[in-house]
Amino acid sequence: MRAELVAVGTELLLGQIVDTHSAFLSQELSELGIDVYFHTSVGDNRHRLQEVVHTAVSRSELVIFTGGLGPTDDDLTKETVAEVLGVRLVEHPPSKQVLEKVFQKYGLSVPPSNYKQALVFEDGTVFANPNGTAPGMAVTVGKTTCVLLPGPPTELYPMYHSQVRPFLEQIRSDDEVVVSKVLRFFGIGESHLVERIEGLIQHQDNPTIAPLAKEGEVTLRLTAKAVNRKQADAMIAPIEKEILQSVGQYVYGVDDETLEKAAVRSLAEQGKTVAVAESCTGGLLAGTLTSVSGCSAVFQSGIVCYSNEVKEHDLDVSRECLEKQGAVSMETALALAQGVSRRFRTDFGLSVTGVAGPQSVEEKPVGLVYVGVAEQGKPPRAYRFYFSGSREKIRIRAVKHALFILLE
Ligand code: ATP
Ligand code: MG
Repeated sequence: MRAELVAVGTELLLGQIVDTHSAFLSQELSELGIDVYFHTSVGDNRHRLQEVVHTAVSRSELVIFTGGLGPTDDDLTKETVAEVLGVRLVEHPPSKQVLEKVFQKYGLSVPPSNYKQALVFEDGTVFANPNGTAPGMAVTVGKTTCVLLPGPPTELYPMYHSQVRPFLEQIRSDDEVVVSKVLRFFGIGESHLVERIEGLIQHQDNPTIAPLAKEGEVTLRLTAKAVNRKQADAMIAPIEKEILQSVGQYVYGVDDETLEKAAVRSLAEQGKTVAVAESCTGGLLAGTLTSVSGCSAVFQSGIVCYSNEVKEHDLDVSRECLEKQGAVSMETALALAQGVSRRFRTDFGLSVTGVAGPQSVEEKPVGLVYVGVAEQGKPPRAYRFYFSGSREKIRIRAVKHALFILLE
């Protein structure tokens, strides 16, 4: 199935907003095995929109429009698509009720111009909008299905996940399923990873292997097309096995598992707890861990030990260590990890101390970071890293490495 996306809105052409809807929808469609051939942005202008609709429906089986479903005169998407397709717009009573309810809440009557939001394609599909007044909708004419979605992200995303995705799954060709599995790597760069599995990448066809690097992590998406799910899984399995054989030590999770989710899962599986002591990350590590729902089973507490006084008085790092080795040192990282685990009686203590920049500290270079980990009953370990980039990047890198160490 050949698809294209049309983002409607003059703000897009003026550069006031970036078309993130098309990026999102393209990723979603590729997961559904629907090939996207074109992205078009067009302003709120009837003639140019007509031209775009005309071209799109003549060359694609699926066209998804976003934006321009509002109540004002420059919201033209629905009217223009209906006109070009030759489809009538009819009143949709449930949408009219929603509209009336919203205005009633504020003690107002619906302005006449707003009633156009209750119009939908005759014989089409309506996607209810619990977060706004414009319903989404779809209609099929000949070989082409047009889908119209509201522009505001708070309306588009919930509508997509609850109603549009199932709709698209239904209309895509039935004789083929597309199954994807994402392998998530940490501690290896994209080019190294690709080099290590070069043979597989060169001969890929079905399943395909797509690498993607983002914020120090690399993913490989394996996508198979087959007649059923079982066969697709069977096609992915041997490729996955081969990949794991050569670079399996860098894999920390699959599909949408993040490092923090993997760390929480791993601790929960072992029935272990953790507390963190953070200097240069200032709470980012605790924040990241606690963003995972269910982390209360494993996360006890955290201390932001930015000053040497706190490191010494609250976490038992000796003054001698702080003076001789410095706050940014292997020894301090070890002492912090042990100190915090003792203080909160956890199985693991995890610490981060480093120079996030832009100024260097203790004559140590920007980007030097130590991560310490203390596990009950085992000798503590610490790791040294040199990260490049901005203060923010260095802090994020430090957090990710600390999480990865927790997984080892
Ligand atoms: P409204 O009822 O708010 O007028 P609408 O369906 O007419 O909704 P637009 O007016 O086109 O939608 O867009 C509303 C807002 O949604 C924009 O100001 C912008 O913030 C966001 N938006 C619209 N299109 C996109 C897009 N392609 N990518 C990212 N954001 C978008
Ligand atoms: Mg609008």
